[in-house]
Amino acid sequence: MDKAKLEALRARYVNGDVFDATDPVLRRAAADIEGPDGQRRAPYAGIPTFLDLPSANDATGLDVAVIGVPMDLGVSNRPGARFGPRAVRTIERIGPYHPAFKAVPMAAARAADVGDVPFRSRYSLEQSLEDIERYYAALHANAVRPLSVGGDHSITYPILKALGRNAPVGLVHLDAHCDTMGAYDGSKFHHGGPFRLAVLDGVLDPERTIQIGIRGSSNMFWEFSHVSGMTVVYMDEFTQAGVAAIAARARTVVGDGPVYVSVDVDGFDPAFAPGTGTPEVGGLTPREGLSLLRALGGLDIIGADVVEVAPQYDPTTNTAQLAAQLLFEEFALMTVGRRAQAKGT
Ligand code: MN
Ligand code: MN
Repeated sequence: MDKAKLEALRARYVNGDVFDATDPVLRRAAADIEGPDGQRRAPYAGIPTFLDLPSANDATGLDVAVIGVPMDLGVSNRPGARFGPRAVRTIERIGPYHPAFKAVPMAAARAADVGDVPFRSRYSLEQSLEDIERYYAALHANAVRPLSVGGDHSITYPILKALGRNAPVGLVHLDAHCDTMGAYDGSKFHHGGPFRLAVLDGVLDPERTIQIGIRGSSNMFWEFSHVSGMTVVYMDEFTQAGVAAIAARARTVVGDGPVYVSVDVDGFDPAFAPGTGTPEVGGLTPREGLSLLRALGGLDIIGADVVEVAPQYDPTTNTAQLAAQLLFEEFALMTVGRRAQAKGT
């Protein structure tokens, strides 16, 4: 480097401010992030909320409500996903800038952490599912799009009942399991069957549903997915086809209509997400998952969730870290992802 260049860099940067980017996109992002006093709050300070969003007592007037659903009465194996929302809220430094969509999602939408679904009983799965459906029906009636953290995957059935009551929705589903099995120990309400129930209730369109990352040894339980016309992408096929091809197929399957995105963290390899109740080796990497979700920009996403975070099986907290990042990706898709695609950026 010649001396003149060094002098120019010194002249420009030696007294530089943290918000001194000149690129217009980055300047706008910096303005969205900078607080009124020119400071950013320390990420580890204050009462923790999802994605560091403001907290709100009710969702009226919001575009997106982020909700905790601390309920795991539907698990077939290891319990603990009731602790998922708290674990995800404590993760710092997710966002606020989204590098793929080149924008700050929380500046582009009215969004808040509205707390947890209130449950009448910590013992009754059926009552809890009713409580969830009632809560989400009220959100949907007010055009508030829900972004949820579970809880086990049984919570997605009442959410779909609320969102699909007028017209069945499409689905992008990341999971090791299809979750379309039948009654289990006398109960059809469990985390292995929400998407069968949703199809049979007429709230989920199987022909606009794609399930990605399926593996393990439970194929005998997933026939409903194939018979009903869902697109099932087993992990072997994903590995061979690659992220771009599977993302393109997802876009084709769900089309232009309203779509729900449901991410079970056990879709990811337990090397990255050991904190879950039914781990299956050989899963998605976080890099694949982020690329896949970012390739869905422009879809009409009416709601999304991240489920099955059971933090007590993960002393590293990496599962919650991944879940918080996935939640941010879903939030971005529901806000600036749609805008970025519309502008062709
Ligand atoms: Mn699941
Ligand atoms: Mn699963």
